[in-house]
Amino acid sequence: MSLAGRLYKLQQLDLELQKKQQELSEVENQLGDNKALVSAELRLASQKEQLEDARKKQKSSEWELEDLQEKIRQIDSKLYSGKTKDPKELVNLEKEVKGLKSQTTIKEDILLGLMSLTEETEARVKTTAGELEKLKKEWEQRQETLRPRKSEIEIALAELQEERERSAEQIDSEAFGIYERIRITTGQAVVKVERGRCLGCHITVPTSQWQKTKAGDLIQCNNCSRILYLE
Ligand SMILES: [Zn+2]
Repeated sequence: MSLAGRLYKLQQLDLELQKKQQELSEVENQLGDNKALVSAELRLASQKEQLEDARKKQKSSEWELEDLQEKIRQIDSKLYSGKTKDPKELVNLEKEVKGLKSQTTIKEDILLGLMSLTEETEARVKTTAGELEKLKKEWEQRQETLRPRKSEIEIALAELQEERERSAEQIDSEAFGIYERIRITTGQAVVKVERGRCLGCHITVPTSQWQKTKAGDLIQCNNCSRILYLE
């Protein structure tokens, strides 16, 4: 195989290596990406706090209502026991009951509102907990698929790396240096010549160079400096 041919083969290995490294980093990103899971966990924690708060408020509203009802019962028993005879006191007691009853109506409305808030929050917690469960399962499944994929890529990469080293050993250091320099600046150091044109820049290659390339010399394109290769 000509020197340009060996460099072309080395380039194919380098491109394959690049592709595999890209795949590896994509798999690693996916393995590490738990943003959706973390955000669902945070959402659930905050909704649980809201639920606890709503339940506390409901409980204390229930107690306030019970206190009011107890007060009304006590006054009612005074009113209807017959022990209180003083008409003025009776009128006052009736007034007090009336006031307490209107307070009760207000408190009952508040309690109803708090009860529906608790119910809504409970429903939200349930929904988020379900979503979190689903996300966890998906996450675990993804880990199970991606871990072996990662190992496969790592093995392929190691093999390619070895093959690349073997290929590079067959190329003299000067040519290897030229190859690496052009690779860094242009991304692709070796290009084929087809129908007399350099496939790197599409400029026609002079016949003399074309012939030297054919003879196996290491020739670079006059225009783009890439190493020319003829199959
Ligand atoms: Zn060129």
